Amino acid sequence: MKLDLTTCKVRWDRDNYVPKKVYDFETEPLAGDPRKVAEAFLKENLAVLKISAALSDLQFEQVTESLGGKAVLFQQHFDGTPIHGAWVAIHINNANRIFMVMNDTVPAPTLEKKLGKRKAADFLSDNAIDAIIARKAAEYGTLATEINKENMVYAMKGTFRPVCKVKFGTEKPAGSWILFIDRVNGHVIDERNVLHKATGKGKVFLPNPVVTLDRDDLLDLKDGDNDVFAKAYKPVQLKELDSSGFLKGPYVDTTKTRNAAKSATLDFQFTRSDERFEEVMAYFHIDAVQRYIQSLGFTGGKGILNRQIRVNAHGTREDNSFYDPSPGRKDITFGDGGVDDAEDAEIIIHEYGHAIQDAIVPGYGQKTEGRAMGEGFGDYLAGTFYYRYKKAARKLKLGEWDAKGYQGGPQECLRRLESTKLYPADMDGEEHSDGEIWSAVLWQVRKLLGAKKSDTVILESHFYLSQYSDFKDGAEAIIMAEKNLYGGKRTKGLTRIFKNRGILA
Ligand SMILES: [Zn+2]
Repeated sequence: MKLDLTTCKVRWDRDNYVPKKVYDFETEPLAGDPRKVAEAFLKENLAVLKISAALSDLQFEQVTESLGGKAVLFQQHFDGTPIHGAWVAIHINNANRIFMVMNDTVPAPTLEKKLGKRKAADFLSDNAIDAIIARKAAEYGTLATEINKENMVYAMKGTFRPVCKVKFGTEKPAGSWILFIDRVNGHVIDERNVLHKATGKGKVFLPNPVVTLDRDDLLDLKDGDNDVFAKAYKPVQLKELDSSGFLKGPYVDTTKTRNAAKSATLDFQFTRSDERFEEVMAYFHIDAVQRYIQSLGFTGGKGILNRQIRVNAHGTREDNSFYDPSPGRKDITFGDGGVDDAEDAEIIIHEYGHAIQDAIVPGYGQKTEGRAMGEGFGDYLAGTFYYRYKKAARKLKLGEWDAKGYQGGPQECLRRLESTKLYPADMDGEEHSDGEIWSAVLWQVRKLLGAKKSDTVILESHFYLSQYSDFKDGAEAIIMAEKNLYGGKRTKGLTRIFKNRGILA
């Protein structure tokens, strides 16, 4: 059947004045092999579709089947080389009627003009291409698969170049790479990681309902869905989930949790009474903090814990959460006593802070002061990350929601970032309480340097610590980090902070 474009719907390619999509028609039923049917139809309608490529350059690729019918795909070639992205698809419904044509071919005269005829000597040698591939693979990680190469014409946004399309996989980090290397000049004109990743939908507290609703009278209500919480949920994207249907992505894996959340459609919108809500909280918040850390420059080889950490969102009935640094574990467990700990993002990020320190200095915190610095740093990290979500009166308070479920009755907050305690007089040997001295000085550093520089310097300073570091080491490391990163303009101001606190003499 010859198409009459005046009686169907057509979407035109404005640049080339070619019909890209022709639909809203039906041929008579066409019996026989779908490939033969499609080829005959294409031959009859080549001119109508304004396809300037020769029929012999449109090579049959495959038939894909769906519930509603079949699509027959043809790939355009130029001079024997396939053109990336240049396809014709003939769609046939279950009544064997063709009902749509999609045409992404490139006009033959354009190809002729931009590519012309080249001689073998115009192209780079196989060795030269292989050297480029080896260099790129090392840049991405460690080569973990065979390398697949195919010569193609790269056609995108008006560019037409003879390229070698290369595919390979890496590990550390995992990636599935496609590159297009220009066969004439060796430029890598396109590179992408196509490891299957998808965005899920979730609902979270950001960081918790006390902050969002600005109410101190909220109670756990046995993990119940009281109406009061409705306005505290924020819709969020759960980034780069893998294809498993679980909450598993590049930086978080919550499948250690019993009855772990799973959704084929990646829909993870739960409320707090649902056990899966806390998994969504852990996934979203850890992922967000890791991405923030990367945005400060700690990426690739300079990354900090830029790998998957395993989380058990309901690992204990105690009102306690912890990072387990033992070899082979290195995971985070959240407890359900009182308010479920993973309902308060500040508790999540405090624990992630411990994981960060252990990632930079394995075995971190052998001395009491080191452990206190661990507690103080976790509090600082939560405080700085959620600063912008809080009203002024709440900016220095941490874990306000978690504190509403304490055994002895609701408290104002878990800890504060503004302790006036001095070193060493006010040390009492309990790491969380001594940690308030450390979080308070970190907060002063933040005031001096500004949030972003302070966050960067404090993270960087951990690289200058050891397992046995104490407050003095921590203070010196911060001064060193500011000097290395920003030239030491704030050495005096930083020194004053630590001296006033009694940490430096
Ligand atoms: Zn802690």
